[in-house]
Amino acid sequence: MNTEILKVDRDNLGGVSMAHAGEIIRSGGLVAFPTETVYGLGGDALNPKSSKKIYEAKGRPSDNPLIVHIADLDAIRKIAILDESCYEIKDIEGTVNRLAEAFWPGPLTIILKKTDAVPYETTGGLDTVAIRMPSDKIAAVFIRESCGYIAAPSANISGRPSPTKVSHVIEDLSGRVDMIIDGGDVDIGLESTIVDLTEDRPYILRPGAVTEQMLRAIIPDVTVDKGLKKDSDAAPKAPGMKYRHYAPKGELTIVTGDIDRVIDYINDRAQVCKADLIKCGVICPDEHILRYKAPVVKCTGRLGDEEAVAKRLYSILREFDAEGVEVIYSESFDSDGIGSAVMNRLIKAAGHKIVQV
Ligand code: AMP
Ligand code: MG
Repeated sequence: MNTEILKVDRDNLGGVSMAHAGEIIRSGGLVAFPTETVYGLGGDALNPKSSKKIYEAKGRPSDNPLIVHIADLDAIRKIAILDESCYEIKDIEGTVNRLAEAFWPGPLTIILKKTDAVPYETTGGLDTVAIRMPSDKIAAVFIRESCGYIAAPSANISGRPSPTKVSHVIEDLSGRVDMIIDGGDVDIGLESTIVDLTEDRPYILRPGAVTEQMLRAIIPDVTVDKGLKKDSDAAPKAPGMKYRHYAPKGELTIVTGDIDRVIDYINDRAQVCKADLIKCGVICPDEHILRYKAPVVKCTGRLGDEEAVAKRLYSILREFDAEGVEVIYSESFDSDGIGSAVMNRLIKAAGHKIVQV
């Protein structure tokens, strides 16, 4: 398949090219497009054949549901049931409206019960549907120019880090999709926060840029899915969270504890790698770069700048792959803010290998 790369001007999106992207979707094709979180691999969410194609292009397990992207709040009615009697949570419509008012357009995905308009091919066989309204201007125009409902997982081959630059999308999906819209680097760099409203109380199924604290201000009884907690044996509720996502090719270990001990530990390991002729890499904030003795050291931005880490993380993991790094050590970036979403992804990328020093 020949993949058209469409470079667009964010400030001038009215032209024929976006209409062409919309036509591709309406005729059952696939278009990768930028959003503020990561690049998405889009198809018509209401067309089962399009959803099937998305799974094939990504090599994604078909029980891993897709998020439906909309550009207008009214669009929800066609795809989600908002009838009070179908939910345990009280005032479901009011809850959705309050969340939308606070966080849409933006990096929050809301799970609701689906209507028959949404095929099971899109929801991975579930009776629920995940919905998000992205804030990226290109994404909004693209959704409106197509059919108003774009099913889109991250635009990477399954198992690879999510794409935050158009070069990542081209690397993974060139020849597998009809078009890639080049909107430059994304803003946030981590996938959306997912909140589920279909159970007894609101649950966070995936942490993201909309933090638990931010959600609590709008829906006070929100809680984090047990399966996401570090010390829990419960399986995560979001089907996607059970897969080992976001993995670099090299073996990644997170090292936590007193920073001087962390640096000493990683430098010791780097020495061992050198002796064994294994290429070793380190992930750390800018301020620590000169303290590491590994051959490849990647910086996440200034110490404490969690947003910078979020933006850089997936790119760094891909750079390690490209440079043939075989063993990676990362400092820890935990916090109450987006740092907790960064750690969630990093821990998955590390296959839960964490060393406390
Ligand atoms: P991605 O688009 O790659 O960020 O993945 C979307 C993720 O959203 C999936 O991996 C699921 O974990 C989650 N998701 C989508 N739809 C649902 C749903 N109906 N119920 C629970 N989780 C969902
Ligand atoms: Mg993904």
